[in-house]
Amino acid sequence: MYVSMKGMLNRANEGKYAVMAINCFNLETAYAAIQAAQELRSPIIISLLQEHLMEHFGSHLLTKPIMKLANEASVEVAINLDHGQDVAFVKRCLHDGFSSVMMDAAAYPIDQNIEITRHMVEFAQTYNASVEAEIGNIGAASNIMTNDSMYTDPELAIDFVRKTGIDALAISYGSSHGNYPEGYVPEFRFDIVEKIKQETNIPLVLHGGSGCGEKNIRTSIELGINKINMGSDFLKAQVDQIRYQLDKDPNINFFDLIHSTIDAGKEAVKYYINLSKSTGKSL
Ligand SMILES: [Zn+2]
Repeated sequence: MYVSMKGMLNRANEGKYAVMAINCFNLETAYAAIQAAQELRSPIIISLLQEHLMEHFGSHLLTKPIMKLANEASVEVAINLDHGQDVAFVKRCLHDGFSSVMMDAAAYPIDQNIEITRHMVEFAQTYNASVEAEIGNIGAASNIMTNDSMYTDPELAIDFVRKTGIDALAISYGSSHGNYPEGYVPEFRFDIVEKIKQETNIPLVLHGGSGCGEKNIRTSIELGINKINMGSDFLKAQVDQIRYQLDKDPNINFFDLIHSTIDAGKEAVKYYINLSKSTGKSL
């Protein structure tokens, strides 16, 4: 069934688990993520990145077929715009049927971030869609965070939540987007999660879930993370599968090659669903 993130994240908040949000960009990737959720009876969020929608299939082409997959699914499925940075683009996605959007105005000074986000929260109400926003600066793994200013300031975050009325908040406490160097495990500042959760009690979001390590993810969930974004490990599992298939048969046809990636993607999602403790949690 097709739902917004609101209900699934509020229940995750009460039940102290996290829902996985998987970065997809076509029907095959969305199908793999939904299949994984169905097999484990967990809710799932299909995350479509603004950047991918601009460079690959647009929202006008992709949203309806994924909504259909979601509606036919036996578990709760939300479609979320990931890192929506352009206000007009975010509004268009809501118009196209997204049940959830992330308004990422984190690059703006705090007052503007509040203004832009509050406006989007009001706008999204018409569509009964949820809004996620970001405070702080979640970096890229290729440039592992060392700068103190990139971490979310808990006081600013608490004030931001009160002033905007958002449904979920992405915070920066040590994770990065993309693949970490081999063997690297990031160090998380859990005090940031704890403080913001204590004061706001809203669903908090971990971006860059890939490669964070099981211990970091488990502790994050215990302290109040209710949504985990994961893209790199999902995509890597599919690239590895393509490499394996080509090694096995360099003359493999394109259909068999692409079809084989679905199972590989599904297995990667199932691993994270189990880790996020959302197995069996769908209505
Ligand atoms: Zn992100």
